[in-house]
Amino acid sequence: MGAERNMIDYKITPVNKIEKEHIFEKIPYFMLEDWLKQSLEWKIKRTNIRIKEFYKEMDGKVYISFSGGKDSTVLLNLVRKIYPDVEGVYVNTGLEYPEINNFIKKMDNIKVIRPKKSFVEVINKYGYPVISKVVSHAINRYRNTSNKENKQFRLYGWKKDRGKLVLGVIPRKYAYLINAPFKISDQCCDIMKKYPFKKYVKETNNYPFIGTMATDSNLRLRNFLERGCNVYYKNIQSRPLSFWTQDDIWRYIRMNDIPYSKIYDMGEKHTGCIFCMFGCHLEEHPNRFRRMKTHHPELWRYCMYKLNLKRVLRYMGLDSGVNILDDCFLKGGKQ
Ligand code: SF4
Repeated sequence: MGAERNMIDYKITPVNKIEKEHIFEKIPYFMLEDWLKQSLEWKIKRTNIRIKEFYKEMDGKVYISFSGGKDSTVLLNLVRKIYPDVEGVYVNTGLEYPEINNFIKKMDNIKVIRPKKSFVEVINKYGYPVISKVVSHAINRYRNTSNKENKQFRLYGWKKDRGKLVLGVIPRKYAYLINAPFKISDQCCDIMKKYPFKKYVKETNNYPFIGTMATDSNLRLRNFLERGCNVYYKNIQSRPLSFWTQDDIWRYIRMNDIPYSKIYDMGEKHTGCIFCMFGCHLEEHPNRFRRMKTHHPELWRYCMYKLNLKRVLRYMGLDSGVNILDDCFLKGGKQ
C-alpha cells in the first residue's frame, strides 16, 4: 500500500474540466496527509502552481484576502512575488488588535473595506459567537424554531425522512447552551466579514486568494477535502496554502525575513477578532482573554464590561480574567 501511494503522481486536475463539469476537485485524506509531510520547498512550488493557475483562469481578476495575520502575510508575499500588482483587501471590523491595524497601514496596495454593522449591534440583534460556527448555528436554529420536529433534529439528530444525522446537531456537551440567558448566533462572521467581501466581489468582479489551511478547523478540513485548493464553481476562491502547517508559515517568514505584526511577539499565536469566543473552550491557561488582560487591559475591560463577555464566559465555565477585585473596583462593571 505504501509503495502504491508513493507511485501516485499528484497531478493537478485540469481546471477546464472542473469548470465545465461543475464538479469540485475532491482530495482523499491520505493525499492531504502526504502533502502535509512534504518539505517547505515542495509546498512553495505547489502553491505557486495553484496561484498561477487561478490567476490565469480568472484572467487576472483576483485579490488577496488580507487580515494582517501571519498566514495572509505569507500569502500576500507569495502572490506578489509572481504578480506584484494584485490588490490586498482588508475588512476592518473594528475587532482587531491595534498592532494588526498598525501593521496594515504600513503595507502597500491594501484596500480597506468595512461592515455595515458594529460588533455591538450584531451581538445585540443576533447573539454572541460561541464554541464554533457550527455549534452557534445549531443552537440558534433550535431556539428560533417552533417546529417540534426541527427541535428534535437539533437535539437528537433524528429526521423522519432521513433517519439519524450528525451534521447540524447540537453536540450533547454543548446542549446546556440552549438555556443560556443571552442570545447565541453564527451571524457575526457573515455580517462582519462575509458580506463586505461579497459586496467587494460584486463591485469589482475580482475573486480571492485566501490564506486558510485545512488543519485550521474541522470545517476547513472538510471543505478542502470536498473542494480542493482552487474552487471555480460556487464561492469561487483559491486557498493555495491549504496543505501548509503553522510551522511552514513561520519557517517561510524567517527564511524570507518578512515583516509581520507585532502582536505575535506579545505571545499571541493567532490573530483575528479579539472579542471572538470561537474556540476559546479549547485553549489552555492562560486563555486569550486572560492574556489580553495582561497586554491590552483597556480592551479587555471593554470586552468584559461593555460587551458583557464576562457573563457569557462565566456561564460557559471559561476564564474571563475577571476576579473579585475587578468586579469591586472597576467603574462601569455590571454584575
Ligand atoms: S471571527 Fe468571531 S468575532 Fe470575528 S467576525 Fe467571525 S464570529 Fe465575529
